[in-house]
Amino acid sequence: MSIFDSHCHPQMEQYDNDRDEMLKRAKDAGVFMICVGTDLETSKKGIELAEKNDNIWATVGHHPNDIPDDLSQSFMIYHKALRNSKVVGIGEVGLDYYRTPESEKQEIQKEILVKFLDLAMEYNKPVILHSRDSVKGSTGRVHADMISIIENWKLKIENSARPWRAGVAHSFTGNIDDARKYLDLGFYLGFNGILTFARQYDDIVKYAPIDRILLETDAPFLSPEPYRGKRNEPAHVVEVAKKVAELKNEPLDRVIDQTTGNCRKLFQI
Ligand SMILES: [Zn+2]
Repeated sequence: MSIFDSHCHPQMEQYDNDRDEMLKRAKDAGVFMICVGTDLETSKKGIELAEKNDNIWATVGHHPNDIPDDLSQSFMIYHKALRNSKVVGIGEVGLDYYRTPESEKQEIQKEILVKFLDLAMEYNKPVILHSRDSVKGSTGRVHADMISIIENWKLKIENSARPWRAGVAHSFTGNIDDARKYLDLGFYLGFNGILTFARQYDDIVKYAPIDRILLETDAPFLSPEPYRGKRNEPAHVVEVAKKVAELKNEPLDRVIDQTTGNCRKLFQI
């Protein structure tokens, strides 16, 4: 059976000593993955991994905490990359008010996010959104700002008569009201190992329709139980599937099948 890790970073240096073994464990476990870029270097390395492995696809983008002064070089490369059939989306991009509390810098993050959304619109690709609030565990301003940016972007797409592709709110940490707004906009919600050790998102998993949930690891980060404290890897995505199955009171097979189908549909794989 195959299972899709919709958000991981197997190209990162944490795997430089044993990447082949880690990828083999994932392949043996039937794991397909979206290898997500966080800056120019990880975007390029992600594409290389995708080209070498038939169970890996890549996305390109800059994490809001990894934005260079000059983005023009990155954009030149991304324009070319987006014609490659193994490059299936834009991300991760977004807003991080936790590590960027200064409001002037948050305004810059918003401007850059809009540039990436326009790039996604130009190539008709889905976006992987990162949103983190200024206060840990709070559900304040970041999702309100993100949702309003996405609503404006959707209007722009409608006015240009282009098709709407939406995307995923990765590592979703908003409240039920935020979840409803993303779902209304056609977005998927991405859940990871946080579900295995924190209880505050259980109600959102129960609320979200199973056909709008994506599984992710965010490896090498956010190891699920029983691997907490260790480096995470895509093979552990099944632990997230088990938790979703438990919360939704569904058979594990059905959760894996449905979320794998969701990921294929969103990224047109
Ligand atoms: Zn990530």
